[in-house]
Amino acid sequence: MFIDKEKCIGCRACHPYCTVGAISSVKWNDRTKSEVNQDECVECGACLRSTICRQSAIFMPELEWPRLVRAQFGNPYIHPKIKDGVPPTPEIKTNDLNGRIPVGVTEVVVEMGRPGVSTSFRDVQKVCSVMAETGIALHPGSAIATIMEDLAAARIREDVLGERALNVMIVGCIDNVRLFHALEAIKRVSKEIDTVFSLSLVNRLAKDNIAQALPIASSAGFSIMPHAKTNVGLGRRIEGEN
Ligand code: SF4
Ligand code: SF4
Repeated sequence: MFIDKEKCIGCRACHPYCTVGAISSVKWNDRTKSEVNQDECVECGACLRSTICRQSAIFMPELEWPRLVRAQFGNPYIHPKIKDGVPPTPEIKTNDLNGRIPVGVTEVVVEMGRPGVSTSFRDVQKVCSVMAETGIALHPGSAIATIMEDLAAARIREDVLGERALNVMIVGCIDNVRLFHALEAIKRVSKEIDTVFSLSLVNRLAKDNIAQALPIASSAGFSIMPHAKTNVGLGRRIEGEN
């Protein structure tokens, strides 16, 4: 995002609308103007969509790759393109219908960055590498897969690593036997990244109505906030499954 200094009157009205605090005042030809820090801006478009600028000084040029990746992970109107022929990863609430996560398997979701913080793709790479090394298979239909040059190794394209994003979700699956080891490794790498992150574990309930990941996450030292999603009105669940 850019601010046209010829039009800007330096009123600062747009500053609070920036999700990462990337807009600041600068001196320009002896006048106070506003400017977008291009390293910090995550191209979320919030400042422009707010229509706060009465001078129409805020503008977004056509984004080229790899800068475009910032918008793909931060602007709700711009989406990464999933590979042709690969179905997008369905919402977890449809699991009763498609059985994507069977009993005995846990979906692991690491969400990095938040408004006010954002994340670098170098940090995302650190977490992705650990997830792949410990046996978590990333979903080919997820947004993060669109920027991988090697999905099995969870290796992000080199040209993206210098970019930032408001928020990145890394989604993959692992069998419960290997989950503890993977969680310990995620905990270790979380101390090496310069952003906030949250971890979600998704289970299909086993016959005894137990979410198998719960005791595993607990013994790996994570504090747990359980919640459930129920298939109401989405369709008939898979025949023969509990
Ligand atoms: S709202 Fe518009 S005129 Fe005011 S500081 Fe921001 S860009 Fe400049
Ligand atoms: S596009 Fe988003 S990050 Fe960039 S200046 Fe606007 S609000 Fe801030």
